[in-house]
Amino acid sequence: MRCFNHQDKDAVGSCKHCGKGLCPACLTDLGHGLACRDSHEQAVESIHTLIARNSQVQRMAPKTWYVVPAFTAFMGLVFAGYGMFSPRGPVTFAAVLGLGFIAYSALLFVVNYRAFRANGAQA
Ligand SMILES: [Zn+2]
Ligand SMILES: [Zn+2]
Repeated sequence: MRCFNHQDKDAVGSCKHCGKGLCPACLTDLGHGLACRDSHEQAVESIHTLIARNSQVQRMAPKTWYVVPAFTAFMGLVFAGYGMFSPRGPVTFAAVLGLGFIAYSALLFVVNYRAFRANGAQA
């Protein structure tokens, strides 16, 4: 690949913003990527900021993977407990509903935990 601005020079890299091949005289190394000197530094910098922010969000999200399953399990225990130990005798539909919630929460635990592990985060 040749430099976009200098057809007689070899490109050593390409701008992260526009993808043009650039020789050392035409590029700026921003540390995380290359940019056209004096024209695309700002654009490449903002791409980098955007990506950094996105990966930060992905790192934050898995910390709450257990909230919904735990809440579902809690609801299940409340319903099942009420259904089985109601002072007015067993309430079948509540017990069944509670057990259903518990089974569903176990499923959520497994699914969410797998997604959480797949993100590469540490437990
Ligand atoms: Zn460029
Ligand atoms: Zn050049």
